[in-house]
Formats: sequence, C-alpha cells, structure tokens
Amino acid sequence: MTRSGLLGALRRWWWQGIDVIEAHLVERQHAANVRVFCLGFAAVLGVMWCLQWLAGWRADLNALYRPGWWATSLWWQAGLIAWLLGMASWGKRVRDARAAHPWAVQLALVPALGGIVLLGVAHGLHDTPVPMLILNVLVFSRGLFAWRQVRWALGLSVLLVLASELLTATGRMPYAPLLSAPVFTGAALHPWWAMWVRVLFVLAAVLMSLVLFCLAVAVARRRQELETLVSTDALTGLSNRREFMTRLAREAHRQARGGRPLSIVLFDVDHFKQVNDRWGHPVGDQVLSRIGHLLRAHTREQVDTAARYGGEEFVLLLPETGVDQACLVAEKIAARLRAEVFDADGQRFQVTQSVGVAQVVDGDVDQALRVADRNLYQAKRAGRDRMVASVAFPEDVNRPALAV
Ligand code: GH3
Ligand code: MG
Ligand code: MG
Repeated sequence: MTRSGLLGALRRWWWQGIDVIEAHLVERQHAANVRVFCLGFAAVLGVMWCLQWLAGWRADLNALYRPGWWATSLWWQAGLIAWLLGMASWGKRVRDARAAHPWAVQLALVPALGGIVLLGVAHGLHDTPVPMLILNVLVFSRGLFAWRQVRWALGLSVLLVLASELLTATGRMPYAPLLSAPVFTGAALHPWWAMWVRVLFVLAAVLMSLVLFCLAVAVARRRQELETLVSTDALTGLSNRREFMTRLAREAHRQARGGRPLSIVLFDVDHFKQVNDRWGHPVGDQVLSRIGHLLRAHTREQVDTAARYGGEEFVLLLPETGVDQACLVAEKIAARLRAEVFDADGQRFQVTQSVGVAQVVDGDVDQALRVADRNLYQAKRAGRDRMVASVAFPEDVNRPALAV
C-alpha cells in the first residue's frame, strides 16, 4: 500500500469510528449501548489487570502489593471482566432493540462503576489517577444512557467513596488496602505541595465533570427540540402529517391486536381559496391557526392526535372511539367553527368545513383513510358544511355511508 493510500485508509477508519460512536451516543439504542459500554470498560479493566499481573513476575514489584491481596484482586477483576463480556454478548444478540430491558443497563452499569470505585479505593483514591478514570467512565455512561439510568450506579459510587473515606479516617481500614506501600514512593512531597496537588486535582475533576454534564443536558434538550420541530406543524402547532402517519401506524397495530374502536376524522375547509383571494393570505393563515386551536381544544391531550394533513385539511385520530362518538366530536368542532366570526379590515366573515369520518376495521388504516376521504368528497358534493361517516369495512369500498 502506498503512503497516501495508507493515510486515506486511516482517515476513512477514523471517520467511520467517529460515525459509530456518534450513532451510539445520539441514537441511544440501549441494547447496543450496553454492548459498547461493556466492551469499552472490559478493555480498560483488561489493561489494569495486565499491569497488575506483570507486577507478579518481579519480586520487587510484587512486594508493593499486600501479601495475599495480589491474587485475590486479580481473580476479582477477572470475574468483573467476564461479567462485562457476558453482558456485551447479550447486547450483541439484541442489538436491534431500541429499548433493552431496563435491568440490563443496571446490570452493566452498577457492577462496572461499583467495581472501578472499589479498585480506586484499593489503590488509594487520593494519590492515584483512578478517580479520573472513574470520572471518564461516569461521563461516558451519561453519554450512552439517560440520566435516570445512570443515577443508581452514580449513587452507589458516591456511597462507596464516602464509606471508604469514613473507614480510613476512623482507622478501621488502611488507606490503599491493596498496597503494602503507597504508589508514589520516593521523596515525600512537602505537605503544602501535597495539599496543593490534591486541591487542583479535585478542582480539575469537578470542572471537567460539570462541563461534560452540562454538555450532555444541552444535547438532550436540543434533541428534544428537534424532535418537536420535525413532528409539529409550524402554523397551527398541531402534529404534522409525518407525525400523524407514525401514530396512525402505532394505533393500527393496537386496534388490530385489541379490537378496540379507532376512528379517523378528515376536515377540509370549504372554499378556502376564496378566503385567501378575498382577505389575503395572512388572514387565511389566522383562520387555519384558529382551526388548529379548536381541534386541540376538543381532543384528549395524551390520547388523540390532531394533525394538519395538508394545506387546509386537518385530521383527527381518535383511539377508543367508535364512529358515533367520532361524529359527536367532529360535529362539535364544526359547530364551533361555524359560529366563529373572523375579522379582516373591519369586515366580518365566517367559514365552514366539510367532514369525512371512518372507523377502522381490523387495523386496516389505509382502507379507513380511503373511506374517510371518500366520505369527505361526498360531503363536498352534497353541498359542503356537512359530515358523512361510515365504518371502513375492508371488503366494500363503496358501501353506503351510515350517517349524512
Ligand atoms: P373546497 O371547498 O372544494 O375545499 O374549496 P377550497 O377553495 O377550500 O379548496 P382548494 O383546494 O381549491 O383550495 C385550497 C386553498 O388553500 C388553496 C391554497 O392557497 C390554500 N392554502 C393551502 N395552504 C395554505 C396556508 O398555509 N395558508 C393559507 N393562507 N392558505 C393555504
Ligand atoms: Mg383541500
Ligand atoms: Mg377546501
């Protein structure tokens, strides 16, 4: 391979790696993220394990460990690595699941963070860089998982640190119990410099974690804003057509499974082009925005979906609602709009809408949309400002409407 070819390949690998990490951080696919976390953490522990294992080969290095503790600690770390690799292989099997079982995340995070804190305590939290490693693991976990998933592991880590500080301060446990001598042997630091180093160390750690946690919160907020933006219609504040179709597919499954009634209501403003032509586009926009308000006011917030389906067309998705109740809701909205008096340049005008209603059968929402559209068309043909409703039987598209 030529030099530029090698550089090109390295660059490609680098960006592919960044893409993979970004996808895991942004997508938050829990099963896959459990895998990334466990593999990454097992690798870090593997390095620590190797270092300690190497020390066993030289008597002078082995003497740094408290007799008997060297082997125990190695076995213990090996157990933790095996556990993490087991969790990683589980994560591989369910990689496609966005929402892994909540316990899976805890089964990875709690032993991992608890384990690294215990290793820190064993080596001495005050004089070694292990707290930096703990901090990195925490920040990485926060990037991969939601705050509520990390908090148990974080709480356990804080408890372990506090308990170890208490035990050492009261003389019930030696400082750095794994070691027979402190890690930094040699000339002792002047007490002033020892204090100075530790204060800076804590300061850097606190600042770094603050910045990273703030970043994580900011990213989560932007993500939420973007999700709202892509699912909302800017003029009316209702769901947009894309969001409607997503919810429609979800409700279709539920309807097919549970057999509970589900209805679709299509609204189309009558002669809306004339409103624009006569009073101007901004006034037309005000009318649409008002209709958005009416639809929101007459639907259940967490249950129904009110969406802007097209220019001056709106749609309601009403779970747990049969065609008769859907007609009642639609009629209320139509009556409110009919009674509404709009004002343009001191002149008053009113608008009406035509409505097509269909009840979904066997989860076949495509058929229901076709039937609702056909009913709306019939309402227009029958003179506008009226409603046509029917149950959307799959076998008969032209079945006569139930209510006109
Ligand atoms: P019909 O009773 O048959 O539905 O007649 P209509 O005039 O309402 O229907 P048509 O499809 O002929 O016209 C729809 C109009 O809606 C044309 C278009 O300019 C207008 N429109 C679509 N989107 C918007 C919008 O966002 N704002 C405004 N002001 N008008 C819009
Ligand atoms: Mg239209
Ligand atoms: Mg219209």
